[in-house]
Amino acid sequence: MLQIRNYIDGKLIEPTKNNWLPNMEPATGKQYAQIPDSDEEDIALATQAAQAAFPAWSTTPAKERSAILDRISQLIEKKLDFLAAAESKDNGKPLSLAREVDIPRARDNFHFFATAILHFASEAHQMEDSAINYTERNPIGVVGCISPWNLPLYLFTWKIAPALAAGNCVVAKPSEITPMTAYLLSEICIEAGLPAGVLNIVHGLGHKVGDAMTKHPKIKAISFTGGTKTGATIASIAAPKFKKLSLELGGKNPNIIFADCDFEDALNTTVRSSFANQGQICLCGSRIFVERSIYQEFRDAFVDRVKQLKVSNPLDPKANLGAVVSRSHMEKVLSYVQLAKEEGGTVLCGGNQVHLEAPYNNGYYIEPTVIEGLEYTCRTNQEEIFGPVVTITPFDTEEEVLTMANSVEYGLASTVWTSNLKRAHRMAHNIQAGIVWINCWLLRDLRTPFGGMKNSGVGREGGFEALKFFTEAKNVCVKL
Ligand code: NDP
Repeated sequence: MLQIRNYIDGKLIEPTKNNWLPNMEPATGKQYAQIPDSDEEDIALATQAAQAAFPAWSTTPAKERSAILDRISQLIEKKLDFLAAAESKDNGKPLSLAREVDIPRARDNFHFFATAILHFASEAHQMEDSAINYTERNPIGVVGCISPWNLPLYLFTWKIAPALAAGNCVVAKPSEITPMTAYLLSEICIEAGLPAGVLNIVHGLGHKVGDAMTKHPKIKAISFTGGTKTGATIASIAAPKFKKLSLELGGKNPNIIFADCDFEDALNTTVRSSFANQGQICLCGSRIFVERSIYQEFRDAFVDRVKQLKVSNPLDPKANLGAVVSRSHMEKVLSYVQLAKEEGGTVLCGGNQVHLEAPYNNGYYIEPTVIEGLEYTCRTNQEEIFGPVVTITPFDTEEEVLTMANSVEYGLASTVWTSNLKRAHRMAHNIQAGIVWINCWLLRDLRTPFGGMKNSGVGREGGFEALKFFTEAKNVCVKL
């Protein structure tokens, strides 16, 4: 059986206690690899290696660090098909999605931060003729990166690339549910000549490996993407230790569709923003609000399109949706459909598990599901489902839809569909979300601040925001 290993001090090694966990293939429900069940001993080794590598890496000229990161980017590009196949097998997402979105973005993350670090500058503040202040931005030391299973290599590299570019050494943990491409990345880093200890990847369970990282006194910052509850646990441990924290957490995003929108564009994009990656993107919109005058027309057209989506094994080139990530996640998502019915909702389409032919008959497939008739305050409309389930609700006024959109504890992303420019700006200003897309979705410029407000997170990733997070600012005041 294929065995994933930890990447510590430049080598691929077994976990110290030689304990292993099964790695499942969501498309078939079968185990296909083993992953290290690491613990605090492995984290101690990884941190030691990172500490030892830090003096040399942090003083390596930015240009040289940049060249190594760019080599990693080029190797990802060279192995794009291989990595896409591995990501699809490990996560259950359609191969086409991994090939078009996940792996290209992992490549771009390294390339982007390899070049961004060459343009990273700090400020100077002059006090008339009495003094001049300048800001140093120095790497923090050893930092921890913890990422989730929905966009495995995409989100893993989104943290690692800026951390390394800024001169830190990294201890990183991918989700135990989707470890494969992180493992393949460790092979790429060796091939690219990344010095030993600069990046260490430790596989295993969140409550063991992730917890050990959060507690380790020499890991000075934690960049975490995952669920809000896990974020709260991490914050409660890391905050009293005064670690720097970046938390990218859950969402319950609204798609707001006004009658004056470009109907076809809003329709097509809302189908995508609802069900891409089986709805398992933190930026997916799961609450669709439609202005009443076009509600029926939009709802019927939407349901019609959703019924045409094909749920199939990830290798099927016609698959619109593949498998969700695990059996327990499938059960959680389906339990929300049941809850929606109990709360008075009507399932307009979907709502069931899909049973495919062998060898996919034990895979985790769910029909794309649309539910109407729910109060905006009910649990189905308030809690993150993180699967192919959306609700649809009419509204009459801007004020009303803002109340509904902002009623949740989350504030990650949103879309607004309108051709009225003034309204678009007004809505963007009043929506409580870190990201507002007007007449589009998932259009990403990697320079922009990325993150959520309220319970969707603390801090921002992306561009210089990420490089600022991964550096410590020091003001130097020189009397003139
Ligand atoms: P989890 O919070 O369960 O896990 C995220 C990562 O944290 C995993 O690597 C996990 O390991 C680890 N972890 C779990 N418990 C601990 C702990 N006590 N200490 C340290 N680390 C721990 O999230 P999911 O993987 O289920 O991902 C889905 C969630 O991520 C959704 O809520 C989604 O909205 C959010 N998300 C947010 C994004 C954003 O940018 N805001 C982007 C993408 C997803 P293990 O896998 O072993 O449990």
